[in-house]
Amino acid sequence: MIAAARHRELRGELTHDAPLAPLTSWRAGGHADRLYRPADLEDLREFLRGLSDDEPVLWLGLGSNLLVRDGGVRGTVIATHARLDGLECVGEAGVRAGAGVPGAKLARFAARAGLVGAEFFAGIPGTVGGALAMNAGAFGGETWRVVRRAQTIERSGNVEWFDVDAFETGYRHVAARDAGERWFVAAEFGFAAGGDPQELHRRTRDLLANRAHSQPTGVASCGSVFRNPPGDYAGRLIEAAGLKGLRCGGAQVSEKHGNFILNTGAATAADIETLMTTVQERVAQQTGIRLVPEVRIVGKAEVRT
Ligand SMILES: Cc1cc2nc3c(=O)[nH]c(=O)nc-3n(C[C@H](O)[C@H](O)[C@H](O)COP(=O)(O)OP(=O)(O)OC[C@H]3O[C@@H](n4cnc5c(N)ncnc54)[C@H](O)[C@@H]3O)c2cc1C
Repeated sequence: MIAAARHRELRGELTHDAPLAPLTSWRAGGHADRLYRPADLEDLREFLRGLSDDEPVLWLGLGSNLLVRDGGVRGTVIATHARLDGLECVGEAGVRAGAGVPGAKLARFAARAGLVGAEFFAGIPGTVGGALAMNAGAFGGETWRVVRRAQTIERSGNVEWFDVDAFETGYRHVAARDAGERWFVAAEFGFAAGGDPQELHRRTRDLLANRAHSQPTGVASCGSVFRNPPGDYAGRLIEAAGLKGLRCGGAQVSEKHGNFILNTGAATAADIETLMTTVQERVAQQTGIRLVPEVRIVGKAEVRT
């Protein structure tokens, strides 16, 4: 719970029983007990200091890798998008970005500054914080390959910069080596100087256009649902199992790309999760490979009445 008396100085927005579906790219799922949008980093520190030790906390960027179950999330969701939104050039061909900055904005900013190597962020429809948490990657680029250092916050409100080697990173995997509970509030990225802004913008547009040929766009989804198993592609396995187009309620495996599950309009989170399980079971029956979700599933299944 939130100790209200300790929150006298807050400047952010606190919403009770906040619907999360509009804040996720699947447009499905339940409510959060509380949703906090900090005004800035100092305000966030104040807010965290006022939380009781047992209050569950979930961080939310653009919700582009999150399935929120229909019963919603107990505790407090902290929404960073457009809040921790600092963006500036630093040091030698570096950019410092707040956790709430969208990947596409970071890519545009770097391109305008003639910095090469940030183009792939345009393909990640999440925030910098989400990209750091997921080690998101696209078009051959990957988040932690361009991180110089990352700034985190703890429940105590303590804010600290860490070098890259404080984190263990791999394919869609990031963990603090000391297993401490901390979340990302900013990062400094290192790119290469001397690029031509127009050429960088053109390259990014081409990458996105190519992707639009093979992946569904403009439909509610969460991108790739399953991680690629070693040496193979989840999308290929799902297609080979004949599962493209398979439906559960309002959820459907994309006809265009097997590793995408679409919300065709009125899917519940349960429809999506049931379809995920069916896909896992059918692929396992046919290939012996158990697909592992890339999307993070949070919250309670039971809907409160
Ligand atoms: C159409 C589409 C295409 C996609 N293509 C790609 C792709 O090419 N490559 C790729 O890697 N991903 C892709 N994704 C998935 C998604 O965009 C990425 O995983 C992205 O990094 C998630 O960022 P987010 O801000 O939306 O995070 P969210 O979905 O809000 O959160 C994801 C996870 O990160 C945690 N988190 C969020 N912010 C923080 C923070 N500040 N500190 C600590 N933890 C935090 C959340 O608690 C959650 O566990 C795609 C998604 C869609 C919808």
